[in-house]
Amino acid sequence: MKPWRTPLDIDKHKLPHYKIYIIVDRCKGCSFCVEYCPKKVLEMSEEFNIKGYHPPFPVREDQCVGCDLCELICPEFAIYVLKDEEEPEDKIKMNVENAIGEPEGDKESENEQSKDKIKT
Ligand code: SF4
Ligand code: SF4
Repeated sequence: MKPWRTPLDIDKHKLPHYKIYIIVDRCKGCSFCVEYCPKKVLEMSEEFNIKGYHPPFPVREDQCVGCDLCELICPEFAIYVLKDEEEPEDKIKMNVENAIGEPEGDKESENEQSKDKIKT
């Protein structure tokens, strides 16, 4: 869709770019991410992953608006989207910490405390 007007200060703004990461071997080929992407960025691949499913791949990555819908809808946590300047490891680390609920350091000290309780 072509915008019907252009902002006067468009030269002062930089549109963000997004990068799509697919953990191919986690995918179960349900195609939710392909069907529901509002910008039709993804298509199913002809290739097979390790499980024998067809994973998606980005065909129009430059059209991605970073809405994260594919990431939220994926039942296998096999796809995620980052702004171009973000490091993928950071996001994975963040997701792992969220899933665990607390940093490792606290868990270790809790384990130590419970060991002490058992000893006494
Ligand atoms: S973030 Fe949004 S626009 Fe980008 S690929 Fe996922 S669903 Fe499509
Ligand atoms: S939603 Fe997830 S599991 Fe389904 S096709 Fe997309 S990446 Fe694969």
